[in-house]
Amino acid sequence: MTDQIKTDCLIIGAGPVGLFAVFELGILGLKAEVVDNLDKIGGQCAELYPDKPIYDIPALPSCTGQSLVDNLLEQIKPFQTPMHLNQRLESLKKEGEEWKATTSLGKTFITPNIFIAGGVGSFEPRKPPIENIIKFENKGVAYSIPNKDSYKDKTVAIFGGGDSALDWTVELSKIAKHIYLVHRREEFRAVEHTVSQMRELVEKEKVSLYTKNQLFDADGDERIKNVSIKNQEGEIKTLDCEKILIFHGLKNELGPINDWGLGLSEKQIVVNTEDFQTNLEGIFAIGDIATYPGKLKLILSGFHEAALAAQKAFKRAKPDENLLFRYSTSDKDIHERLGLKK
Ligand SMILES: Cc1cc2nc3c(=O)[nH]c(=O)nc-3n(C[C@H](O)[C@H](O)[C@H](O)COP(=O)(O)OP(=O)(O)OC[C@H]3O[C@@H](n4cnc5c(N)ncnc54)[C@H](O)[C@@H]3O)c2cc1C
Repeated sequence: MTDQIKTDCLIIGAGPVGLFAVFELGILGLKAEVVDNLDKIGGQCAELYPDKPIYDIPALPSCTGQSLVDNLLEQIKPFQTPMHLNQRLESLKKEGEEWKATTSLGKTFITPNIFIAGGVGSFEPRKPPIENIIKFENKGVAYSIPNKDSYKDKTVAIFGGGDSALDWTVELSKIAKHIYLVHRREEFRAVEHTVSQMRELVEKEKVSLYTKNQLFDADGDERIKNVSIKNQEGEIKTLDCEKILIFHGLKNELGPINDWGLGLSEKQIVVNTEDFQTNLEGIFAIGDIATYPGKLKLILSGFHEAALAAQKAFKRAKPDENLLFRYSTSDKDIHERLGLKK
């Protein structure tokens, strides 16, 4: 049997709003755990626009998507919140006054509060409609890299022409036996510096580059053994490899959130604006995924929603304790929780 993790609040989504919710819960003395489907923290800010400037975060005249995430991580550091990445929250069941939530990797959480900060839904990799690729998922075929050590001394075929494909080509070339990089176009959509690094690796014969080629098929027995690619003239070439990495971008899926009995309106979760609870007691929705009259899909709105939801979550997690309104400037408990010296 897998371990059950007990927590004051489970947060679904490690985007900016999920991260700020950790802070708001933390200063009230509540412990949180965070689950995200992606292999990195930061939601849309880190995945879709890490280098773009944001100008409408209060008191920050300008910051990039990634620097906002880095600052939020710095702010929640004192709480040492576990982040469970690479897994989607799949199922939700009521058990007495608490909720039992299970991820796609079988991790189970027992908690009185669930904050759904799922943005536009979980980001899912775009998968090529090739039967043998699906068949060899987790047997050599992958769409992200939770542990790069498993690529040590392996021959790896990487598909894609964006930042992820290029970043991992450069990174894995340091430990892999050999890398094939396959892209359907001649041009790459990645940072110029990384493209130059990749071209240097091609010159050094650490990487073999196939442009104007597409993934065609794959073969193996227990695990993947080779992949075939097809060029624009229709010629097929087979490359022996032990690992295939596909970076064809991401799509958004509300996925299992659809099945939890939540009140939905146009792919968003309906909440009240008093405490951002949904129609299910103890389940809250905050950030882009929440809807109510006047909702603005802005990061600052999500931060406000997280603060109010945390107040209600406290009452559910500690029904016998009083919650007093306090300023962070002068409250000793908050300072202690933030690890500040007296
Ligand atoms: C190009 C661009 C520019 C923008 N510029 C601005 C701006 O200037 N100012 C501004 O305020 N806003 C801006 N936004 C919008 C802003 O990024 C969003 O409002 C913000 O990211 C919402 O944060 P969130 O935490 O609610 O959701 P997200 O950032 O979408 O994060 C949600 C996370 O939840 C995860 N998730 C979802 N479902 C599950 C599940 N079932 N299991 C596990 N994980 C799950 C997802 O993988 C994702 O990582 C911009 C957006 C884009 C695309």
